[in-house]
Amino acid sequence: MKYYGVLTFFLLLAAVLSLISCSRNPYAATNRAHKKQVRAYIRSLKDLPLKNAQEDSILQGDYWVGTTNFNLRKPNYVVIHYTAQESTEHTLNTFTEPATSVSSHYVIGGDGKVYQMLNDYFRAWHGGAGKWGNTTDLNSGSIGIELDNNGTEPFEEAQIQSLLRLLARLKKAYSIPAGNFIGHSDIAPTRKVDPGPLFPWKRLAEQGYGLWPYKDYFAEALSQDSALVVQSIALLSNIPMPAGEQITDNDALREILSKRIVDAIAVEEALRIIGYDISDIGAAVRAFKLHYIQKDVHAPLTDEDKIVLYNVYKRSL
Ligand SMILES: [Zn+2]
Repeated sequence: MKYYGVLTFFLLLAAVLSLISCSRNPYAATNRAHKKQVRAYIRSLKDLPLKNAQEDSILQGDYWVGTTNFNLRKPNYVVIHYTAQESTEHTLNTFTEPATSVSSHYVIGGDGKVYQMLNDYFRAWHGGAGKWGNTTDLNSGSIGIELDNNGTEPFEEAQIQSLLRLLARLKKAYSIPAGNFIGHSDIAPTRKVDPGPLFPWKRLAEQGYGLWPYKDYFAEALSQDSALVVQSIALLSNIPMPAGEQITDNDALREILSKRIVDAIAVEEALRIIGYDISDIGAAVRAFKLHYIQKDVHAPLTDEDKIVLYNVYKRSL
């Protein structure tokens, strides 16, 4: 009798605890649906050997041979977004509604709290139709990070701090190259403007996430006070120096080089090499300006912008 009493007590306690934990997490129901989907994908990972090979006229080997040497495919890009929604809660809710068909791996609130909604190895639906370089399925190769921000307000310091910590972890875990930390507007220039001109790309790049041009292309070389260094840059850049042109000092040389770059740069080619889809060149220029110039994004490229473009292009080669 005593034994049953204790057992009943613990069963009741377990029931109460599970009720408490359910009431604490408003997403208990969708979490269960999530886990069910995960289990289905885990089962599909075991599909071997080649199914229905005869339908595709594929001649199979005599027996199945499983390799012992493998691991999971790794994400190689990080795509950063802003949510353009009212609150973190609103976004979390949106990403748990099947009808919306949108999601991301992480959502970061203005308070710096990080919500991981999907394992990094799964494919979230954050990029949509897009292209970067020759990659046309960014969702398959990337981690999506959504920042709670309505698109017109500055990003919160706590949020950026959290983002930087998360990026450090992802970069290390998957060996993601610096240039592969990009924004939604970069991969979908005709459709998207996030994370927008207020996003601190420069700060990220200084810590190894994304490319950034030097403010002054020649500043670094000139700081060494050597015209030779700058002339070397010109040679490496394949910018011809006409014979007989007199170069008297660094400033003069800089002016000549800048003018040559502005005259010679093939804008479409440079944008394409950086990664932009140039099928709509106006949209590609705007996306470039959103990321690297961050002002007057609807205006054409100025001479100064072209120097920045040239610098980013050189870094992308
Ligand atoms: Zn986005």
